[in-house]
Amino acid sequence: MAITRAEVIVTSPDRNFVTLKLTTADGVTGLGDATLNGRESAVVAYLRDHVVPLLIDRDESRIEDTWQFLYRGAYWRRGPVTMAAIAAVDTALWDIKGKVAGLPVYQLLGGASREGLLAYGHASGRSLEELFDSIRDHQEQGYRAIRVQTGVPGLKSIYGIASNETRHADKSVRYDHEPAQPGSLPAEEDWDTRSYLRHVPAVFEAVRNEFGPEPPLLHDAHHRLTPIEAARLGRSLEPYDLFWLEDVTPAENQEALRLVRRHTTTPLAIGEVFNSVWDYQHIIREQLIDYVRSAVTHTGGISHLKKVLEYAAQYQIKSGMHGPTDVSPVGMAAAMHLGLSVHNFGIQEYMKHGARTDQVFRQSFSWRGGYLHPGDEPGLGVDLDTDEAGRYPYVQAYLPYNRLADGTLHDW
Ligand SMILES: [Mg+2]
Repeated sequence: MAITRAEVIVTSPDRNFVTLKLTTADGVTGLGDATLNGRESAVVAYLRDHVVPLLIDRDESRIEDTWQFLYRGAYWRRGPVTMAAIAAVDTALWDIKGKVAGLPVYQLLGGASREGLLAYGHASGRSLEELFDSIRDHQEQGYRAIRVQTGVPGLKSIYGIASNETRHADKSVRYDHEPAQPGSLPAEEDWDTRSYLRHVPAVFEAVRNEFGPEPPLLHDAHHRLTPIEAARLGRSLEPYDLFWLEDVTPAENQEALRLVRRHTTTPLAIGEVFNSVWDYQHIIREQLIDYVRSAVTHTGGISHLKKVLEYAAQYQIKSGMHGPTDVSPVGMAAAMHLGLSVHNFGIQEYMKHGARTDQVFRQSFSWRGGYLHPGDEPGLGVDLDTDEAGRYPYVQAYLPYNRLADGTLHDW
Protein backbone atom coordinates (compact mmCIF):
# COMPACT_ATOMS: atom_id res chain seq x y z
CA MET A 1 0.00 0.00 0.00
CA ALA A 2 1.00 3.62 -0.40
CA ILE A 3 -0.35 7.13 -0.06
CA THR A 4 -1.78 8.10 -3.43
CA ARG A 5 -3.49 11.37 -2.60
CA ALA A 6 -2.92 14.21 -0.12
CA GLU A 7 -5.31 17.16 0.07
CA VAL A 8 -5.18 20.28 2.21
CA ILE A 9 -8.73 21.34 3.01
CA VAL A 10 -9.42 24.82 4.36
CA THR A 11 -12.89 25.52 5.72
CA SER A 12 -14.42 28.17 7.96
CA PRO A 13 -17.79 26.97 9.26
CA ASP A 14 -17.63 28.84 12.59
CA ARG A 15 -13.93 29.67 12.35
CA ASN A 16 -10.98 28.64 10.17
CA PHE A 17 -9.76 25.05 10.13
CA VAL A 18 -6.97 23.45 8.10
CA THR A 19 -7.24 19.69 7.58
CA LEU A 20 -4.93 17.28 5.80
CA LYS A 21 -6.67 14.33 4.15
CA LEU A 22 -4.56 11.39 3.02
CA THR A 23 -5.84 8.56 0.82
CA THR A 24 -4.11 5.21 0.27
CA ALA A 25 -4.05 3.02 -2.83
CA ASP A 26 -6.73 0.88 -1.15
CA GLY A 27 -8.95 3.92 -0.66
CA VAL A 28 -8.45 4.23 3.10
CA THR A 29 -8.51 7.86 4.23
CA GLY A 30 -6.96 9.58 7.24
CA LEU A 31 -7.43 13.10 8.65
CA GLY A 32 -5.01 15.38 10.47
CA ASP A 33 -5.60 18.83 12.00
CA ALA A 34 -3.14 21.56 10.92
CA THR A 35 -4.97 24.63 12.26
CA LEU A 36 -2.71 27.41 13.58
CA ASN A 37 -5.01 30.12 14.85
CA GLY A 38 -4.50 33.43 13.01
CA ARG A 39 -1.64 32.02 10.87
CA GLU A 40 -3.55 29.27 9.07
CA SER A 41 -2.31 30.05 5.55
CA ALA A 42 1.35 29.58 6.52
CA VAL A 43 0.68 25.94 7.40
CA VAL A 44 -1.39 25.48 4.23
CA ALA A 45 1.56 26.66 2.12
CA TYR A 46 4.04 24.52 4.11
CA LEU A 47 1.89 21.46 3.57
CA ARG A 48 0.94 22.06 -0.08
CA ASP A 49 4.36 23.20 -1.31
CA HIS A 50 6.77 21.20 0.83
CA VAL A 51 5.05 18.18 2.40
CA VAL A 52 2.30 16.90 0.11
CA PRO A 53 4.76 16.21 -2.78
CA LEU A 54 6.88 14.10 -0.38
CA LEU A 55 3.95 11.98 0.79
CA ILE A 56 2.83 10.58 -2.54
CA ASP A 57 3.91 6.92 -2.92
CA ARG A 58 5.17 6.73 0.70
CA ASP A 59 4.28 3.64 2.76
CA GLU A 60 1.47 4.86 5.00
CA SER A 61 2.26 2.24 7.66
CA ARG A 62 5.61 3.89 8.52
CA ILE A 63 4.42 6.56 10.96
CA GLU A 64 7.62 7.03 12.95
CA ASP A 65 9.86 6.98 9.89
CA THR A 66 7.66 9.55 8.13
CA TRP A 67 7.75 11.78 11.24
CA GLN A 68 11.56 11.64 11.38
CA PHE A 69 11.79 12.21 7.62
CA LEU A 70 9.69 15.38 7.82
CA TYR A 71 11.41 16.66 11.01
CA ARG A 72 15.06 15.85 10.30
CA GLY A 73 14.76 15.93 6.53
CA ALA A 74 13.71 19.59 6.45
CA TYR A 75 16.91 20.62 8.30
CA TRP A 76 14.92 23.60 9.75
CA ARG A 77 13.44 22.12 12.91
CA ARG A 78 10.63 22.96 15.31
CA GLY A 79 8.43 26.06 15.23
CA PRO A 80 4.63 26.22 15.14
CA VAL A 81 4.23 26.07 11.36
CA THR A 82 6.55 23.10 10.85
CA MET A 83 5.24 21.19 13.83
CA ALA A 84 1.56 21.75 12.96
CA ALA A 85 2.25 20.44 9.45
CA ILE A 86 4.07 17.36 10.79
CA ALA A 87 1.29 16.88 13.35
CA ALA A 88 -1.31 16.75 10.59
CA VAL A 89 0.60 14.05 8.69
CA ASP A 90 1.25 12.05 11.87
CA THR A 91 -2.38 12.21 13.00
CA ALA A 92 -3.70 11.24 9.56
CA LEU A 93 -1.35 8.22 9.48
CA TRP A 94 -2.59 7.07 12.91
CA ASP A 95 -6.17 7.47 11.62
CA ILE A 96 -5.31 5.28 8.62
CA LYS A 97 -3.54 2.68 10.78
CA GLY A 98 -6.59 2.44 13.02
CA LYS A 99 -8.94 1.98 10.06
CA VAL A 100 -6.68 -0.67 8.50
CA ALA A 101 -6.52 -2.53 11.84
CA GLY A 102 -10.25 -2.04 12.50
CA LEU A 103 -9.42 -0.48 15.89
CA PRO A 104 -9.86 2.93 17.51
CA VAL A 105 -6.51 4.74 17.74
CA TYR A 106 -6.42 4.51 21.55
CA GLN A 107 -6.23 0.72 21.24
CA LEU A 108 -3.12 1.05 19.10
CA LEU A 109 -1.58 3.34 21.74
CA GLY A 110 -1.89 0.72 24.48
CA GLY A 111 -5.62 0.65 25.19
CA ALA A 112 -7.74 2.61 27.66
CA SER A 113 -6.20 3.62 30.99
CA ARG A 114 -9.53 5.02 32.24
CA GLU A 115 -13.26 5.08 31.49
CA GLY A 116 -13.38 8.70 30.31
CA LEU A 117 -11.56 12.01 30.26
CA LEU A 118 -12.38 14.68 32.83
CA ALA A 119 -12.84 17.89 30.83
CA TYR A 120 -13.04 21.56 31.75
CA GLY A 121 -15.01 24.34 30.10
CA HIS A 122 -14.60 28.12 29.96
CA ALA A 123 -16.85 30.18 32.23
CA SER A 124 -16.43 33.93 32.16
CA GLY A 125 -18.15 37.19 32.99
CA ARG A 126 -17.47 40.89 32.98
CA SER A 127 -19.23 41.06 36.38
CA LEU A 128 -19.66 38.53 39.19
CA GLU A 129 -23.32 38.11 38.24
CA GLU A 130 -22.41 37.27 34.62
CA LEU A 131 -19.67 34.94 35.81
CA PHE A 132 -21.96 33.06 38.20
CA ASP A 133 -24.53 32.66 35.38
CA SER A 134 -21.81 31.29 33.13
CA ILE A 135 -20.59 28.81 35.77
CA ARG A 136 -24.17 27.60 36.35
CA ASP A 137 -24.67 27.28 32.61
CA HIS A 138 -21.53 25.14 32.33
CA GLN A 139 -22.61 22.96 35.23
CA GLU A 140 -25.97 22.43 33.48
CA GLN A 141 -24.03 21.36 30.35
CA GLY A 142 -22.38 18.68 32.48
CA TYR A 143 -19.02 20.29 33.21
CA ARG A 144 -17.52 19.39 36.60
CA ALA A 145 -14.28 21.36 36.14
CA ILE A 146 -14.47 24.99 35.12
CA ARG A 147 -12.00 27.64 34.03
CA VAL A 148 -12.89 31.01 35.57
CA GLN A 149 -11.98 34.22 33.69
CA THR A 150 -13.19 37.58 34.89
CA GLY A 151 -13.46 41.16 33.69
CA VAL A 152 -11.22 43.61 35.53
CA PRO A 153 -12.51 47.08 36.58
CA GLY A 154 -11.03 49.76 34.34
CA LEU A 155 -10.15 47.42 31.47
CA LYS A 156 -12.55 47.47 28.52
CA SER A 157 -11.59 44.13 26.99
CA ILE A 158 -9.69 41.23 28.43
CA TYR A 159 -8.66 37.72 27.44
CA GLY A 160 -11.13 34.93 28.12
CA ILE A 161 -14.35 36.91 28.45
CA ALA A 162 -17.21 35.90 26.19
CA SER A 163 -18.47 38.93 24.35
CA ASN A 164 -20.63 37.65 21.56
CA GLU A 165 -22.08 41.08 20.77
CA THR A 166 -18.82 41.91 19.00
CA ARG A 167 -17.46 38.50 18.13
CA HIS A 168 -20.25 36.30 16.95
CA ALA A 169 -22.66 37.02 14.14
CA ASP A 170 -25.48 35.13 15.84
CA LYS A 171 -26.24 37.24 18.91
CA SER A 172 -28.18 34.45 20.55
CA VAL A 173 -25.10 32.25 20.75
CA ARG A 174 -22.91 32.70 23.79
CA TYR A 175 -19.44 31.81 22.60
CA ASP A 176 -17.03 31.20 25.47
CA HIS A 177 -14.44 32.31 24.32
CA GLU A 178 -13.44 32.93 20.71
CA PRO A 179 -10.61 35.44 20.58
CA ALA A 180 -9.81 35.31 16.83
CA GLN A 181 -11.83 38.02 15.15
CA PRO A 182 -12.61 38.22 11.43
CA GLY A 183 -11.13 41.31 9.78
CA SER A 184 -8.08 42.59 7.96
CA LEU A 185 -6.38 43.85 11.15
CA PRO A 186 -6.11 42.45 14.69
CA ALA A 187 -8.12 44.06 17.47
CA GLU A 188 -6.32 46.07 20.14
CA GLU A 189 -7.11 45.23 23.77
CA ASP A 190 -5.87 46.89 26.95
CA TRP A 191 -4.08 45.61 30.01
CA ASP A 192 -3.11 46.67 33.54
CA THR A 193 -1.31 44.12 35.71
CA ARG A 194 -1.84 45.89 39.05
CA SER A 195 -5.62 46.07 38.56
CA TYR A 196 -5.69 42.41 37.53
CA LEU A 197 -3.65 41.21 40.53
CA ARG A 198 -5.88 43.19 42.92
CA HIS A 199 -9.14 41.93 41.43
CA VAL A 200 -8.68 38.22 40.69
CA PRO A 201 -8.31 36.82 44.27
CA ALA A 202 -11.57 38.51 45.32
CA VAL A 203 -13.36 36.91 42.37
CA PHE A 204 -12.15 33.42 43.34
CA GLU A 205 -13.21 34.03 46.94
CA ALA A 206 -16.70 34.95 45.70
CA VAL A 207 -16.84 31.90 43.40
CA ARG A 208 -15.83 29.53 46.21
CA ASN A 209 -18.41 31.14 48.53
CA GLU A 210 -21.14 30.66 45.90
CA PHE A 211 -20.23 27.22 44.48
CA GLY A 212 -18.44 25.57 47.39
CA PRO A 213 -15.12 23.77 47.71
CA GLU A 214 -15.84 20.86 45.33
CA PRO A 215 -15.66 22.06 41.69
CA PRO A 216 -12.15 21.96 40.24
CA LEU A 217 -11.45 25.60 39.24
CA LEU A 218 -8.81 26.74 36.77
CA HIS A 219 -7.49 30.12 35.68
CA ASP A 220 -5.40 31.35 32.74
CA ALA A 221 -3.06 34.35 33.18
CA HIS A 222 -2.22 34.14 29.47
CA HIS A 223 1.53 34.88 29.65
CA ARG A 224 1.04 38.41 31.02
CA LEU A 225 3.01 38.45 34.25
CA THR A 226 6.63 38.81 35.29
CA PRO A 227 7.99 35.98 37.45
CA ILE A 228 7.53 37.89 40.72
CA GLU A 229 4.01 38.99 39.74
CA ALA A 230 3.18 35.38 38.88
CA ALA A 231 4.55 34.23 42.23
CA ARG A 232 2.33 36.74 44.02
CA LEU A 233 -0.77 35.66 42.06
CA GLY A 234 -0.12 31.99 42.78
CA ARG A 235 0.27 32.69 46.48
CA SER A 236 -2.81 34.93 46.66
CA LEU A 237 -4.94 32.19 45.03
CA GLU A 238 -3.79 29.40 47.36
CA PRO A 239 -6.83 29.70 49.71
CA TYR A 240 -9.15 28.93 46.75
CA ASP A 241 -7.54 25.57 45.87
CA LEU A 242 -7.09 25.97 42.12
CA PHE A 243 -6.77 22.86 39.96
CA TRP A 244 -4.18 24.89 38.05
CA LEU A 245 -2.95 28.35 37.22
CA GLU A 246 -2.06 28.51 33.54
CA ASP A 247 0.58 30.36 31.53
CA VAL A 248 1.62 32.73 34.31
CA THR A 249 4.68 34.00 32.43
CA PRO A 250 5.70 34.10 28.76
CA ALA A 251 6.48 30.44 28.38
CA GLU A 252 9.69 30.60 26.37
CA ASN A 253 11.75 31.59 29.44
CA GLN A 254 11.75 28.26 31.25
CA GLU A 255 13.89 29.57 34.14
CA ALA A 256 11.20 32.09 35.15
CA LEU A 257 9.22 29.27 36.70
CA ARG A 258 11.93 28.54 39.26
CA LEU A 259 11.15 31.84 40.94
CA VAL A 260 7.38 31.23 40.77
CA ARG A 261 7.79 27.77 42.30
CA ARG A 262 9.76 29.10 45.26
CA HIS A 263 6.76 31.16 46.37
CA THR A 264 3.59 29.19 45.69
CA THR A 265 2.04 25.72 45.90
CA THR A 266 -0.69 26.59 43.38
CA PRO A 267 -0.27 23.97 40.60
CA LEU A 268 1.10 25.38 37.33
CA ALA A 269 0.17 24.47 33.76
CA ILE A 270 2.10 25.66 30.73
CA GLY A 271 2.88 24.88 27.11
CA GLU A 272 0.01 25.67 24.73
CA VAL A 273 2.45 27.60 22.51
CA PHE A 274 5.19 24.95 22.81
CA ASN A 275 5.96 22.74 19.83
CA SER A 276 8.41 20.08 20.93
CA VAL A 277 9.85 18.13 23.83
CA TRP A 278 12.80 20.54 23.81
CA ASP A 279 10.51 23.37 24.96
CA TYR A 280 9.82 21.28 28.08
CA GLN A 281 13.35 20.04 28.67
CA HIS A 282 14.12 22.02 31.84
CA ILE A 283 10.65 22.66 33.25
CA ILE A 284 9.86 18.94 33.31
CA ARG A 285 13.22 17.76 34.60
CA GLU A 286 13.25 20.45 37.32
CA GLN A 287 9.56 19.78 38.12
CA LEU A 288 8.63 23.43 37.57
CA ILE A 289 5.16 22.61 36.21
CA ASP A 290 2.36 20.18 37.05
CA TYR A 291 0.51 19.96 33.70
CA VAL A 292 1.61 19.85 30.06
CA ARG A 293 -0.65 22.13 27.98
CA SER A 294 0.40 21.17 24.46
CA ALA A 295 -2.11 20.23 21.79
CA VAL A 296 -1.59 17.27 19.48
CA THR A 297 -2.18 19.75 16.65
CA HIS A 298 0.72 22.06 17.58
CA THR A 299 3.25 19.59 18.95
CA GLY A 300 4.09 17.26 16.12
CA GLY A 301 1.08 14.99 16.41
CA ILE A 302 0.19 11.95 18.48
CA SER A 303 3.66 10.39 18.14
CA HIS A 304 5.56 13.39 19.49
CA LEU A 305 3.15 14.50 22.23
CA LYS A 306 3.09 10.91 23.51
CA LYS A 307 6.86 11.15 23.94
CA VAL A 308 6.50 14.49 25.78
CA LEU A 309 3.89 12.97 28.12
CA GLU A 310 6.01 9.87 28.78
CA TYR A 311 8.93 12.14 29.72
CA ALA A 312 6.56 14.14 31.98
CA ALA A 313 5.29 10.94 33.61
CA GLN A 314 8.76 10.24 35.06
CA TYR A 315 8.26 13.40 37.16
CA GLN A 316 4.58 12.88 38.09
CA ILE A 317 3.60 15.68 35.69
CA LYS A 318 0.25 15.13 33.97
CA SER A 319 -1.45 16.04 30.71
CA GLY A 320 -3.72 19.04 30.33
CA MET A 321 -4.05 19.14 26.57
CA HIS A 322 -5.01 22.40 24.86
CA GLY A 323 -8.54 22.19 23.46
CA PRO A 324 -9.99 25.57 22.49
CA THR A 325 -12.27 25.82 19.44
CA ASP A 326 -9.30 26.42 17.13
CA VAL A 327 -8.27 22.81 17.72
CA SER A 328 -10.53 21.18 15.10
CA PRO A 329 -12.72 18.14 15.84
CA VAL A 330 -9.91 16.08 14.26
CA GLY A 331 -7.35 17.53 16.68
CA MET A 332 -9.76 17.03 19.59
CA ALA A 333 -10.30 13.38 18.62
CA ALA A 334 -6.52 12.86 18.51
CA ALA A 335 -6.26 14.39 22.01
CA MET A 336 -9.00 12.09 23.31
CA HIS A 337 -7.37 8.92 21.97
CA LEU A 338 -3.99 9.94 23.40
CA GLY A 339 -5.49 11.08 26.72
CA LEU A 340 -7.46 7.86 27.14
CA SER A 341 -4.35 5.75 26.65
CA VAL A 342 -1.60 7.50 28.64
CA HIS A 343 -1.25 6.76 32.34
CA ASN A 344 -0.54 10.36 33.38
CA PHE A 345 -3.71 11.98 32.05
CA GLY A 346 -4.74 15.03 34.08
CA ILE A 347 -7.60 16.91 32.44
CA GLN A 348 -8.75 17.86 28.92
CA GLU A 349 -9.76 21.37 27.84
CA TYR A 350 -13.05 21.14 25.98
CA MET A 351 -14.87 24.06 24.32
CA LYS A 352 -17.81 22.86 22.31
CA HIS A 353 -17.63 23.60 18.59
CA GLY A 354 -20.42 25.42 16.79
CA ALA A 355 -23.26 23.68 14.96
CA ARG A 356 -21.83 24.39 11.49
CA THR A 357 -18.49 22.89 12.52
CA ASP A 358 -20.26 19.75 13.73
CA GLN A 359 -21.94 19.48 10.29
CA VAL A 360 -18.59 19.67 8.48
CA PHE A 361 -16.83 17.25 10.86
CA ARG A 362 -18.99 14.21 11.74
CA GLN A 363 -17.74 12.96 15.09
CA SER A 364 -18.27 9.86 17.19
CA PHE A 365 -17.03 11.04 20.60
CA SER A 366 -19.32 11.08 23.64
CA TRP A 367 -19.77 13.66 26.42
CA ARG A 368 -21.36 12.28 29.59
CA GLY A 369 -21.29 13.44 33.19
CA GLY A 370 -18.34 15.77 32.63
CA TYR A 371 -16.27 13.11 30.85
CA LEU A 372 -15.25 12.74 27.19
CA HIS A 373 -14.70 9.47 25.36
CA PRO A 374 -13.43 9.21 21.74
CA GLY A 375 -15.73 6.28 20.89
CA ASP A 376 -14.84 2.96 19.29
CA GLU A 377 -14.99 3.68 15.56
CA PRO A 378 -11.84 2.46 13.76
CA GLY A 379 -9.26 5.25 13.51
CA LEU A 380 -9.98 8.65 15.05
CA GLY A 381 -13.74 8.45 14.55
CA VAL A 382 -14.08 11.70 12.57
CA ASP A 383 -15.32 12.12 8.97
CA LEU A 384 -14.97 15.32 6.97
CA ASP A 385 -17.91 16.19 4.71
CA THR A 386 -16.03 17.87 1.86
CA ASP A 387 -19.20 19.24 0.22
CA GLU A 388 -20.23 20.85 3.48
CA ALA A 389 -16.65 22.11 4.06
CA GLY A 390 -16.69 23.70 0.59
CA ARG A 391 -19.59 25.94 1.60
CA TYR A 392 -17.37 27.89 4.02
CA PRO A 393 -14.32 29.56 2.44
CA TYR A 394 -11.39 30.88 4.48
CA VAL A 395 -12.04 34.10 6.42
CA GLN A 396 -9.14 36.35 7.39
CA ALA A 397 -9.04 36.49 11.20
CA TYR A 398 -6.45 37.52 13.77
CA LEU A 399 -5.88 37.05 17.46
CA PRO A 400 -5.93 40.40 19.31
CA TYR A 401 -2.94 42.15 20.84
CA ASN A 402 -2.49 44.26 23.99
CA ARG A 403 -1.30 47.73 24.86
CA LEU A 404 -0.77 49.27 28.30
CA ALA A 405 -2.28 52.67 29.17
CA ASP A 406 0.91 54.45 28.00
CA GLY A 407 0.83 52.67 24.64
CA THR A 408 3.47 50.02 25.35
CA LEU A 409 2.80 46.73 23.58
CA HIS A 410 2.24 43.98 26.17
CA ASP A 411 1.98 40.21 25.90
CA TRP A 412 -1.52 39.17 24.87
MG1 LIG B 1 -4.41 29.06 27.72
